[in-house]
Amino acid sequence: MQVKTILNQIQRYRRFVYGEAKFVDTEKGRVIEVAIRPRANSRAVCSGCGQPAPGYDMLDVRRFDFVPLWGILVFLVYAKRRLDCPRCGVKVEEVPWATGKNHLTTTYAWFLATWAKRMTWTDVARAFRTSWDSVFRAVEMAVEWGLAHRDLTNVKSIGVDEISLRRGHRYVTLVYQIDEGCRRLLWMGEHRRVKTLLSFFRWFGHERRMQLRFVCSDMWKPYMKVIGRRVSHAVHVLDRFHIVAHMNKAIDKIRADEARQMKKDGYEPLLKNSRWCLLKRKNRTKKQEMKLAELLQYNLKCVRAHLLTGDFQGFWDYVSPAWAGKFMDRWCTRTMRSQLEPMKKVAKMLRNHRELILNWFRAKGSLSSAAVEGMNGKAKVTTRRSYGFRGFRKASVALYHTLGDLPEPELTHRFC
Ligand SMILES: [Zn+2]
Repeated sequence: MQVKTILNQIQRYRRFVYGEAKFVDTEKGRVIEVAIRPRANSRAVCSGCGQPAPGYDMLDVRRFDFVPLWGILVFLVYAKRRLDCPRCGVKVEEVPWATGKNHLTTTYAWFLATWAKRMTWTDVARAFRTSWDSVFRAVEMAVEWGLAHRDLTNVKSIGVDEISLRRGHRYVTLVYQIDEGCRRLLWMGEHRRVKTLLSFFRWFGHERRMQLRFVCSDMWKPYMKVIGRRVSHAVHVLDRFHIVAHMNKAIDKIRADEARQMKKDGYEPLLKNSRWCLLKRKNRTKKQEMKLAELLQYNLKCVRAHLLTGDFQGFWDYVSPAWAGKFMDRWCTRTMRSQLEPMKKVAKMLRNHRELILNWFRAKGSLSSAAVEGMNGKAKVTTRRSYGFRGFRKASVALYHTLGDLPEPELTHRFC
């Protein structure tokens, strides 16, 4: 059997035929080159207007990366024709295996993009002996195609979230769809300002905006402002994930301050390695359990903060917003007397946003409550494990690829 036979099985082009396949020694080692030529009597198609046009001249032979075969790199080799198009003037012909000036065939790009969902871009590049840049461009193509072909009807609930691309710097705003049964990244924009979220709604469009029933967000002022203005018809929910995050931040601050104070006063570094046993609510390791038991013997500020936030967990189990509200009021009163400044700040915040927090119970059952948290976790993993995501563009391509749940075209053959 010849390579040509396999190619004709899996990847046929109407206006072109495969020629001979041969081994060629290159700087990348021994590779397979497959000649490709126009089918007899088929006319070239203009890349400007997509219509057939008379020939003009021929460009140099070029190689297009195709899917490797048994670890051997494969290239399609073809000399593009130029056309004298009556509509567009002199233009290069359009070929069905690659778009524009791309040296990656579309088939190979989809192949790389599929692998890039399973491992890091660096790993993909290494595994298939191609460049990181090629993998990026492959994923970029897949994302662009997916974004252009996705269905945006029926978005009822959204969650607004933020992550920082580089620790503490450069925030980006992410908007997820968090309907039961459909969770995905809808949009992302640079910064976390009023303008950022406004540009989301501008892009989203009036009609879809009016369909929204629930909007989840953090207590971040710019977001609150835009949501209040643009989606006042929907139920605005301050979601659990962000509230818990605020409490954990407060514990962190109290612990760090206290550890510093104790060190200054010459006490044992009692609080060393205590962070996780204080923040974790369950699944503590044996060692963390022992540490916590040890800490509980002392009336430390961070331990009291830990106990306070632990008590608050009960809040989320309520069904009725009224009872949940009473629970929250009691908790806030206690916390305000605790003399733990960062915790008091949290309590004040809860009081200030009481109704929006209680909306969490009104929305229960309509949106998947842990959705924002889950998406946020995945977004963090994606940006953390990927190298070279300095720019917003690259990070956005990576995030849409992993979280966008983007559609893919029907391919004649699945290579992976
Ligand atoms: Zn044309």
